[in-house]
Amino acid sequence: MSSLNKKQKKILNEKCPCQSSEKYQDCCYPIHMGQNPITAEKLMRSRFSAFALDNDEYLMTSWHSTTRPPEILKEDPPLQWIYLKIIKTEVENERGESFVTFEARYRDNGKAGKFIERSRFMREESMWKYLDGEFLKTAI
Ligand SMILES: [Zn+2]
Repeated sequence: MSSLNKKQKKILNEKCPCQSSEKYQDCCYPIHMGQNPITAEKLMRSRFSAFALDNDEYLMTSWHSTTRPPEILKEDPPLQWIYLKIIKTEVENERGESFVTFEARYRDNGKAGKFIERSRFMREESMWKYLDGEFLKTAI
């Protein structure tokens, strides 16, 4: 079981980075601690929160083993993830895939940026995992 890093500890009683308006401890925290995210959207939200909270360990475990990179690559200095909006969720199709389209906003060294991505998810040993994603639009 993973332990909390500084950013996670600090935010436990504050709003979750995934913009659900719930507290982190009632939202993405249990998933970061190993609870099964019931839907692909929940998993997507928990991964956004993990990016925002520098939880690389979770980013790795929530990545499908067939597409998982050897390590999480980050900008230097790391991007600050500040906003998430779920645009569309497509429920599981006959191949077992689910898609979540979202808008994410960040700051890159103080400069604002955003993109829209359609991510693909698939279960692995009954847990939803991130497979890959396609950028639909990048704009500042
Ligand atoms: Zn959350």
